[in-house]
Order: sequence, then structure tokens, then C-alpha cells
Amino acid sequence: MAVNKEQYLAIKEQLAVKGTTLVAVSKTKAPSDILALYELGHRDFGENYVQELVDKQAQLPSDINWHFIGHLQTNKVKYLASFVHLVHGVDSFKLLREINKQGEKLQRKISVLLQIHIATEETKFGLDETELVEILDSIEKDPLPFVQIKGMMGMASFTDNMEAVREEFKSLNQIFHAHKVRHSENVSFDILSMGMSADFTIAIEEGSSMVRIGSLLFGNR
Ligand SMILES: *Cc1c(COP(=O)(O)O)cnc(C)c1O
Repeated sequence: MAVNKEQYLAIKEQLAVKGTTLVAVSKTKAPSDILALYELGHRDFGENYVQELVDKQAQLPSDINWHFIGHLQTNKVKYLASFVHLVHGVDSFKLLREINKQGEKLQRKISVLLQIHIATEETKFGLDETELVEILDSIEKDPLPFVQIKGMMGMASFTDNMEAVREEFKSLNQIFHAHKVRHSENVSFDILSMGMSADFTIAIEEGSSMVRIGSLLFGNR
């Protein structure tokens, strides 16, 4: 399927009501699909795989904001450190330290979101609230000047039960607001990234400020 431009325009209109940012998730899709949305003025694209992101970044316009939304391994940070706009899925202090190290080499501050575990499935990555507090405490003691923590990200359970999904988004929004007060020079909780094709409407109702939508725009993978 080619890019669904009508769907794109409809989603943009829906998101405009609350000023929610759209990250168009282009993983596994061709650069030509990305360009089709780029030509409509879209600039924020999300990718899950480092190699694919690096390849696409090299061939596409340089003013694209590339979001890394997959699980980032510490040994791969160096490949995207020079250009990534926002890393969504950070869930360890070790990874933050590596991002800081690569940022320092480039003298570039790298923006990240902390991934919070809200789903019932064991397999999803992310921090629980205790681990979140540990990371925030660690950063207070050992500031990482080349990392900017801009907010949180979460994924709901893979289920048709939309009430359960809503509860998970609600809990993430509560965690987000509970820890928002802990801002410092390198920590500012401005972005709450939650919601995908199947559940973004609920996510917005529950306080999301950034949605990550793939299949609705680009077709099934
Ligand atoms: C693939 C992916 C998305 C987009 O999923 P769709 O259901 O296609 O909208 C959003 N977030 C993450 C983390 C993803 O891996």
C-alpha cells in the first residue's frame, strides 16, 4: 500500500485539537513512502532498527527529525548519536551514560525519553516506578551534561480490551505528573509519548503529547 494521505490529513486534524505531535513510524517502509509525507510538510519520523535508521538518514533530507523508538543497545548508540532527534526507549542508567559519552565526543546534547513499563506483558521493555526514581536519583548525583531527559514513553498491552489500555495510559500519565516536579538542568518532563495506530485516540484523551503511528499511515507491515 502507498501512503494514505487522506488518513494522514485526518489524523493531523484530530491531533491539532490538543497540539499533539505526530511521529510517523516508517520502520520497514521505503524511503519513497517517507518522502511522500515529507512533501506534505511532515518532518517527524520514527524508526526501530539502528541500521535501517542510519541508511535512511543518509539518503533522505537533512531536516527530518529522526525519532528512535526501538530498544537501543549501548553498543549502537554511536551510530545515531550525531543526528538523532529524540531517543524514546531509554530504560537504564547504563544506556544514559553511553548516550552521554557519545554526546560528549560530538559536543552534542542528545534528547531522550525514559520508557516506563505499563503493560501487563512481561516482554515489553521499560522501567517500573522504583527504577525510575533510582535513575532520577542517579542523575542528581552524577549529572550527565550531554543528555537531556525530556519526558516519558510507554506502550500499552497488546489487547482488544480498550478499558485496560485506558487504565495503563492513565497510570503512565499519573507517573509522568508525579515526577514532573523533579526537573533540573538536564531533566524536564515536557513530552509524554504514548499511543499507536490502535489506541492513539485513547492515549490523547489520557494526556499523551506525542503519538507514534505507523500502520494507519503506511499500511500493515
Ligand atoms: C511499530 C511501533 C509503533 C507504531 O505501531 P503502529 O501500530 O503501526 O502504529 C509505535 N511505537 C513503537 C515503539 C513501535 O515499535
